[in-house]
Amino acid sequence: TIGMIAINSDGDMAVGTSTNGAAHKIAGRVGDSPLIGSGAYVDNEVGAACGTGDGDVLMKFLPSYQTVESMRGGKSPSEASEDALRRIVNKYPKFMGAIVAVSKNGDYGAACHGLDEFKFSYGSRKTNGINVESVKCI
Ligand code: ASP
Repeated sequence: TIGMIAINSDGDMAVGTSTNGAAHKIAGRVGDSPLIGSGAYVDNEVGAACGTGDGDVLMKFLPSYQTVESMRGGKSPSEASEDALRRIVNKYPKFMGAIVAVSKNGDYGAACHGLDEFKFSYGSRKTNGINVESVKCI
């Protein structure tokens, strides 16, 4: 999955996903990526999140919605991503995937599970181009 979160100069946010379904190319399969709240979610007043990993697991937890709601409740993007991921891992300990989040004020973070680390790209007017960053997985 490629998940993208954007904030424009007016502070309006957008999120989107594109996926080939990875190893799950089953005819008629939907997966999490096109489902609002599951593969991606944005609330222009709070922030946005998107996920990657086994969509048949992800879609049971609405992790992108959960992440945005946790940011609404005061969690940072990193904390909110990790909280949403832990809800999945508690039920699916072998889950492999990640959640990325950006808050309305431009703070960002990610959480992952089942890998050593997860790499994502970030760029803004304050960065010198696009930087690749990584988080250690829980
Ligand atoms: N989430 C995607 C899917 O299951 C796969 C991926 O993230 O690569 O459709």
